[in-house]
Amino acid sequence: MYILANWKNSLSSKDSKRLAEALHTRISGKYSDIDIVLFPDDISIETVSLMFDSASMVRVGAQDGPLGPKTTLTGSISLSNFGKFCDYVLLGHSERRMLLGETDEMIAQKAALAIDVGVIPVICVNKGDGTKIDPHFGLKAQLESILDHIDSKSKFVIAYEPIDAIGTGIPADPEEVKNIAGIIHETIFISRNVKSSPYIPVLYGGSVNDKNIKSFLSLEGIDGVLVGSASLTADSFLRIIKKVSDPKHYK
Ligand code: PEP
Repeated sequence: MYILANWKNSLSSKDSKRLAEALHTRISGKYSDIDIVLFPDDISIETVSLMFDSASMVRVGAQDGPLGPKTTLTGSISLSNFGKFCDYVLLGHSERRMLLGETDEMIAQKAALAIDVGVIPVICVNKGDGTKIDPHFGLKAQLESILDHIDSKSKFVIAYEPIDAIGTGIPADPEEVKNIAGIIHETIFISRNVKSSPYIPVLYGGSVNDKNIKSFLSLEGIDGVLVGSASLTADSFLRIIKKVSDPKHYK
């Protein structure tokens, strides 16, 4: 199971350091069965990443990645810092798609580059616009653009984040999440039906907290969660980790 913490730009560098220290103290040596990944802002990546060395169970990721190996891009993390301090990268978050106009093509380009330098992309997709013939046309288009640019042997992660569930306190209906997870797995399977293709985990994100996480953990096709607001304090994030590590919450 994956638990990803998207800290966005919600914390000062001091608070990011404090939160990472608290998690380091309370998580170290435990929860080896869970993939925990923290996504601090770019200013805090180095500090947080150095705290969780390679022996630690916790991994660190960037909230966005460089567009190309040689592209000079003001506001972007450099390729060398990216490769040095990140194990994962969040790409295609709906806030970036909506506010910055990031296209599927740009997201796919960043994902391919991340894979080239050994960083695992976590690609956020949303419902998109449907058509009369195919209500999931928009979702599939987002996935297919990624699949077209990435070698079928590469590992990546998909996070399904319906826009109306992000930051609203109202999570998506678990039945709908299960249905969408099935469509995501099917689209990936059809596109990369190669024996050596790794399993692609599918996560759910949108107003997940310790109270509602149980309804997402047990869903067929869901391999973890991406948590925003509820990952911003050690207590609340730890409550989620404890639920994920307890088998009784999978029934
Ligand atoms: C997010 O922004 O990726 C997210 C999941 O946020 P929240 O949990 O606050 O809805």
